[in-house]
This record gives sequence, C-alpha cells and structure tokens, in this order.
Amino acid sequence: MADDVRLRFPPSPTGYLHIGGARTALLNWLYARKHGGKLILRIEDTDAERSTEESIQGIIDGMEWLGIDWDEGPYFQTEFATDHKKAAATLLASGHAYKCFCTKEDLDAKREAAMAAKTQVGYDKTCRYLSAEEMQSKEEAGLPFVVRMKVPSGDGFVSYDDKVLGTMTRNYSDIEDFVIVRSNGSPLYLLCNVVDDIRDRISHVVRGQDHLTNTHRQILVYQALGAKIPVFAHMPLTLDTKKKKISKRSHGEIVAVQWYQKNGFLPWALCNFLVLLGWSSGDDKEIFSQEELIEAFTLERINKSNSIFNYRKDDPKFITDPKLLNTNAHYLRSMDLAELAELLKPIFKDAGLWQDSFESEQKEWFHTTLAMTRERFYTLNDFPTEARGWFSDDFSMDDKALKKNLLKHEGLKQWLPELGLQLEALEDFTADTCKEVVKDFCSAKDIKMGVPMNGARAVLLGQIKGPSMFDIFAHLGKDTVVRRLKDAGKWFKT
Ligand code: GLU
Repeated sequence: MADDVRLRFPPSPTGYLHIGGARTALLNWLYARKHGGKLILRIEDTDAERSTEESIQGIIDGMEWLGIDWDEGPYFQTEFATDHKKAAATLLASGHAYKCFCTKEDLDAKREAAMAAKTQVGYDKTCRYLSAEEMQSKEEAGLPFVVRMKVPSGDGFVSYDDKVLGTMTRNYSDIEDFVIVRSNGSPLYLLCNVVDDIRDRISHVVRGQDHLTNTHRQILVYQALGAKIPVFAHMPLTLDTKKKKISKRSHGEIVAVQWYQKNGFLPWALCNFLVLLGWSSGDDKEIFSQEELIEAFTLERINKSNSIFNYRKDDPKFITDPKLLNTNAHYLRSMDLAELAELLKPIFKDAGLWQDSFESEQKEWFHTTLAMTRERFYTLNDFPTEARGWFSDDFSMDDKALKKNLLKHEGLKQWLPELGLQLEALEDFTADTCKEVVKDFCSAKDIKMGVPMNGARAVLLGQIKGPSMFDIFAHLGKDTVVRRLKDAGKWFKT
C-alpha cells in the first residue's frame, strides 16, 4: 500500500548540499513519488561541533530550488535524544548490548599487539565476558564506559537482499562488537539512524555505497530491537575522472548545488543529469521530464558501478561536466520563452541590463532576442555576457572577433562607417532592404560581402558567430546599427 512507502533523506548538516547528496535525495524522492509514498527530511544534526544553522538552511534552500519537495519534516535528530537513549537502555536490558570499560590506552595497546601478531584487529570482547561481579564493581567505581552491540557469535551471518547489489552477506565473525553509545553518553550514528528510521516507519533506505559497511551492523540493531528491516538499495558513488571522490577540497565549488544556482543552471536540468549519474532507463534516453522520470524510475535500474563526474579543472571550456552543460543547453534552448524571460529578469537586473519595457511594449522584441541568441548558449548567465551587445552599447569585444573580423581588414575602419551612412538613408529598414544596400555597397567597393558583414557582426555585437547578419540588422534596429557602424573606428585604436 502506498501509505507504507516511506523514504527519508537524512543529511548531516556539516557543509553545503553536495551534488551527491542531492542525487540521493532525488532518487528517494522519485521512488516516493512513483509509489504515492512519503519523503521525510531528517537532519542528522547530532554532531554539535560540525552542524551549523547555515548548512541546514543551505540544504533546505538547495532542495527547494531543485524542486525536491518533502512530505514530513524537517525533523532534527537532536530532538529525539530520548528515543536514542531509551533504545540503548533497551538493548542493554535485553542483553543485546553491553557496557565496555576498556580505556583508549587499553584498546590502542591491544590493536598494536594484534597488528604485530597479524591476527584480526578488532575489539577482543574483554568486557563482553566480564563476570557479573566484575561488571558491578566497575559500575560502582563509576568508571566511564561505552556501549557495544553484542554481535552474535558462531558461524552465522547477516544477509539482506540489496535492491541494487543483490544478496549481501557478512559473517558474524567479520563484524566486531561495535560501539553504539560513546563514553560521554551520546549515542552514535549506527544506533540513532536506525532508531529514527524505526520511529519514522521508513520502508526503503536508498543511500550511497559508502554506507555499505554500516548496513549489516544496522540490521543487527533492527533485529535486536525486534523491528522490521527496511528494503535497502545502495547507489554507486560519484567519482572524478581519476576515480577519486568529488569533494570541495579537490574540486572546488562545483560540488555544491548552490554553485549551479548561481551559475545559471536550470534546476530540472541538474536533476535530470544527477539522476543519470546513478541510474539508467535501459535505453539511450537522456532527457526526461519529471513525469517521465517518475514513471520510468525503479530501484533495480540503479547502476552497480561507480559513475564518473567528468570535470576537467584544467580545461576552462568545461566549467562543469560537459554532459551537464549539454543537458542544461537542451532545456534552455527548448523552454517556453516567457518562462525563460522570467528566469532572466533578476540576472539582467544584476547585470544592469533590465528594462521594465521588456515586460510591456518591448516584450515581443525581448523574447525574439532570447530566441535568436539562445541557440549557442549553455547557461542563463551566458545571456548578460555573450548577448550583452543586444541590450547595451557597453559590451566587450571577443578577442577572435576583433582580430579576425576587424583588424585583419584595415579597410573596414572606413567601410563600416560608410555603410552606416548608407543604411541611415533607408526609410524602410528591414532584413531585405539592408541586404540590398550591403550588396550594392560591396559591388561598388569590389569586396566580398563576408568582409563587411563579419566586421559588422563584431562592431554590432562583439561576437564572431551568431544569427544571420540581416536578421541582426532588422532586429537591433536602425538607430543602434547605424550608431555602432559609424563608431566602428573606435575598435581600431590600440
Ligand atoms: N547522515 C548520513 C549521511 O549524510 C545518513 C546516512 C544514511 O542514509 O543512513 O551520510
């Protein structure tokens, strides 16, 4: 029943929303939405030293921007400390856990000895086998202790059916009696996370393979608490081209969702890309609407092997993974123009290019400009930079345009202003009438049309490529075209 499908996204708020975290949230969200279930946002803020308000806000803002909505929460793990402590007491009382009084020094010495003897390194269970009297006397002496899970002994094993990886088995003998409560009394992730999942009636745990080492241990906690074990699905990790984990330290800001928001990415384009970093539909389809993805998504089609985030820091052409740029470009170039205009409004305002008339008498002109220019753009931020010349005389000239289109032909210094004068005389300024003027001008000068047209592209927009020049003339309008052509000489001054 849909009501039973309950997933969670439990980030630790110790930084920003990492794109890997966003992918985890997304896959959980897709499954919940597909099955009419619930997604719970639960902030695992028990690490008081590393958790910050700013980070919590960053996670919430990032999810909202991406359009990943949740049905319950945000809950905060710290609010449930009583539940965690109660569970630890229950485990102690039922004999599934025990107090361990070994000091750090004891443990270090034992570890070193085990390493030297090349025997299994792990807790040797000294305190598990303390007699009742020994235990009592340590308790009475008020010695500090941690609480450890009593992993069943013998030849048995823990096994579960991972929806992605298949049957996952681990022998009891390979699991040490792990700590669930620190000596200062604070319960650890392995316990808290399970207690919260039980309380929140989580049916499916979809998380990264970096948690594989926790799962068998957590299943032991579920079993000891007599709770139903959820379905587990572990997603591949996202690595860089050198097979290293992507992190802020080595890759910089591009690992944070916020960077994409600031740098002109469309939230759904990022979602579409992130989902395909860990899942595939089975065919070559790469562009999915939200509805299509919800419909197509299954846990079984999550990839087993790690995915590569193709980021080349050394190549400035790739500000991020080229596939993500292409996905963004796809959405940017095909989206509704009114919607695009709306998204660009704050960006244009920031760049000092916004005019209120873009929403009234110049609305059609503005939309057409976006349609004419977006064919070459990858992000929203390309508009105020690369298309600046459409909106302001104060644009910068592309270096190649300057050298190849202008400076290479010294004659243009005179020809372009002359052409400007001839176009000024046109009563009816259209693409066709401009073309006639340019044609006549070129035959009179005995030059190829390409020469003044490429030059005009440079002085009109500062660009080397773009829409047809006559469409540019007509769309920029007579005043701007004539003014910039007449002023072409300024680009020849060094
Ligand atoms: N707070 C953990 C993390 O961010 C959650 C792990 C889990 O999903 O169980 O990695």
